[in-house]
Amino acid sequence: RLITLEGGEGAGKSTQARFVRDWLTDRGREVLLTREPGGSPLAEAIRGVVLGDWAEGVTPECEITLMFAARAAHWHATILPALQAGRDVVCDRFIDSSYAYQVWGKQVSLDAFNALQQLVLGEQRPDLTLLLDLDAELGLARARDRGDENRFEAESQQFRQRVREGFLTRAREEPQRVRVVNAECEAEQVSAQIAVILAEWSAG
Ligand code: C5P
Repeated sequence: RLITLEGGEGAGKSTQARFVRDWLTDRGREVLLTREPGGSPLAEAIRGVVLGDWAEGVTPECEITLMFAARAAHWHATILPALQAGRDVVCDRFIDSSYAYQVWGKQVSLDAFNALQQLVLGEQRPDLTLLLDLDAELGLARARDRGDENRFEAESQQFRQRVREGFLTRAREEPQRVRVVNAECEAEQVSAQIAVILAEWSAG
């Protein structure tokens, strides 16, 4: 099954993705941990382009098509083969990041997003999505503390707020799939919330 982690900057997605991997491994599952944008050689090359120095000149339309190009490569080269081999896949960011960042953040049309989603994923969705939600400015401060030199420094507070709203909207629309986790607390407490969700989900 495919489990994705989503959320804004500084939410702790990578740390919690490793926690999810370990939780599943401890229960005898074989797990592949991967990330977006990236996760396959071609998709990692696209990541370098879309997050690279020239990213300032990237228009929203260019950005969303590059993100979906990376996703298409990642999906076919990495995710599908692992799922077909019976492994669980844990992915740090996935489709909901495109909805939050490109539709809500960069204001690409929902029609364009839906068309690309249909093209690349068809009806396939993650089985479970953990949305690590936190105040956008707190997230930025945390990302800054860990010394991330990233283009998001240039993005406005309104942008970060829209991204958060985008993620929360997705959770309201698909409450069965997208579970909201309070990511403002310490990492151990975030993991504890996730463990409760995973236990309930894997029993169901
Ligand atoms: O999760 P990570 O920090 O590796 O993501 C890298 C960057 O890519 C983030 O700063 C995020 O703003 C950006 N991103 C994006 N649109 C996506 C996925 C990620 O703008 N669909």
